[in-house]
Amino acid sequence: MIIADKSVVFMHYTLTDDQGQTIDTSAGREPMPYLHGANNIVPGLEKALTGKSAGETVKVSVPCEEGYGPVVPEAIQTIPVDAFAGVEEEIKPGMQFQANGPEGQVQVITIQEVRDDGIVVDGNHPLAGKTLHFEVEVTEVREATEVELEHGHPHMEGGSCEH
Ligand code: ZN
Repeated sequence: MIIADKSVVFMHYTLTDDQGQTIDTSAGREPMPYLHGANNIVPGLEKALTGKSAGETVKVSVPCEEGYGPVVPEAIQTIPVDAFAGVEEEIKPGMQFQANGPEGQVQVITIQEVRDDGIVVDGNHPLAGKTLHFEVEVTEVREATEVELEHGHPHMEGGSCEH
């Protein structure tokens, strides 16, 4: 069957940046499943996979607008060093934390700069502003079950999950 909304798709993927460096890959792991049409993956990749079927490979470069979005300057903020009291010695640029965003969503915060007058943190997604180069091999396509559609994500072996 071909990939359309309500398809559960299994794929191997490799994601590289503009310099050809691998950011993420499923190589050496099981193929990754996702539910098509449910925002499980970035819109640009979902669009490129629509209409494909098992055995096909897709190579696509996704601009940030169809990936993790542009870098939002307002998401970069300076926080008083006091906020990190006790651990300020350990704070180094490049460190990442998970925090809850304004709508309760999990957000990755990256330490950008440690200054005397404050710590500069970046709440943009680590891949915001980047063009994403995907190489994908579709390994399996099946119809989603009722429960999967209700949950908005695939279940392994059609079983249940913790949600
Ligand atoms: Zn579920």
